[in-house]
Amino acid sequence: MLHENLTINEKGHLCIAGVDTVCLAEKYKTPLMVMDEERIRRNFRVYKNAMAKHFGQDSFPAFASKAFSCKYIYRIAKEEGVGIDIVSSGELYTALEAGFDVSKSFFHGNNKTDFDIEYGIENGVGHFVVDNMTELDSIDRIAGEKGIVQPVIIRLTPGIDPHTHAAITTGQVDSKFGIAIETGQATEAVKYTLSRKNIRLDGFHCHIGSQIFDIKPFCDAAKLMIEYISSLKRELGYEASILNLGGGFGVRYIEAQPELDYDEFIRLVSVYIDNEVKASGIKKPQIIMEPGRSIVADSCLTLYTVGGTKEISGFKNYASIDGGMPDNPRYALYQADYTICLASRMNDKADFECTIAGRCCESGDLLQEGVLIPKPQRGDILAVLVTGAYNYSMASNYNRIPRPAVLGIKDGKEFEVIRRETFADLVKNDI
Ligand SMILES: *Cc1c(COP(=O)(O)O)cnc(C)c1O
Repeated sequence: MLHENLTINEKGHLCIAGVDTVCLAEKYKTPLMVMDEERIRRNFRVYKNAMAKHFGQDSFPAFASKAFSCKYIYRIAKEEGVGIDIVSSGELYTALEAGFDVSKSFFHGNNKTDFDIEYGIENGVGHFVVDNMTELDSIDRIAGEKGIVQPVIIRLTPGIDPHTHAAITTGQVDSKFGIAIETGQATEAVKYTLSRKNIRLDGFHCHIGSQIFDIKPFCDAAKLMIEYISSLKRELGYEASILNLGGGFGVRYIEAQPELDYDEFIRLVSVYIDNEVKASGIKKPQIIMEPGRSIVADSCLTLYTVGGTKEISGFKNYASIDGGMPDNPRYALYQADYTICLASRMNDKADFECTIAGRCCESGDLLQEGVLIPKPQRGDILAVLVTGAYNYSMASNYNRIPRPAVLGIKDGKEFEVIRRETFADLVKNDI
């Protein structure tokens, strides 16, 4: 099937990591998310080993936790010895609650509030990834008040178009993120940062976008960043010690997409870096990457119960499920691709073409269109595959629908990692 952790058992049921999903749906109810822990750990190790091998021993991945933020994933990240990327005080709080050592963290965001900066500094965040100079002034002032020197890196926009969906493209000059190299503003920002007393500039960051299958834009970005670092050494005598290349490697959601060889991708990027380092004579910086999607996406699937079908003569068919945009807004947001199958009848003929409709009062609440599955009956279990990234972390309570439970699976046994929300949870902040 799409990924090697997915199989079909003798009952014709879909299994993940060897566990029957229909049994899980019966026991824990739906919607239900199921995560294969070994797969998450394997993905972390692919990055960790490839980066150490190709970039150098001091190189490591920092999990972009916006893809899936909860105590469970930070505990795994801690055990796997990787860093994290966080984008809010809430993610930082969650990591701290999980016992994560946040000296190995990068605090992102295009509008960090003074509260975020204070909270980050008080809790020993490793690096702020500075997005603009007003924010830098706040970091300088607050670090001064606390009597520390805060390490930062600056987020730059290298001006690369990675050819992915516009909503997940971030490296172009006109972006809400980062400072452009092209316009000369980056160098002004570097000079200004170096003049601040309570800040230590350790290097630079770029992130060109997400769900990218082509290696070329990553190589181009890495080359550009090294060129820029060497130009700073010539012009200002400043030598960066960290280069953070962000995330963005694509994940296979549908058969038509390839399964990328991340080790090979990292090796190719390293060739560009090494060539450029050699040509310019700078010291090779420590290389960080921030994979999010490619760590968690393919570890997970979401199970739903089908409510029924609707066949509109001369138009199309719908199959309705007991979840939708509250637990997975990605199709509504950017028509994201998904593979969908009828987990309870995997061996039946998939000859019913339909649109999968969520249960919300919103016509855009769809999970996919033109799906081929066996014609479902009320009570059949439907699975949406590859839902580990940007699903639970984007979930809402729209229509007062409780967020689903998330299960982990390890050694063939399931356990709850996030409890299903209750109706009481829905009103707990209502006064
Ligand atoms: C979203 C994001 C990532 C992760 O991107 P993926 O495509 O999930 O790997 C990494 N770094 C930054 C700054 C991001 O905004």
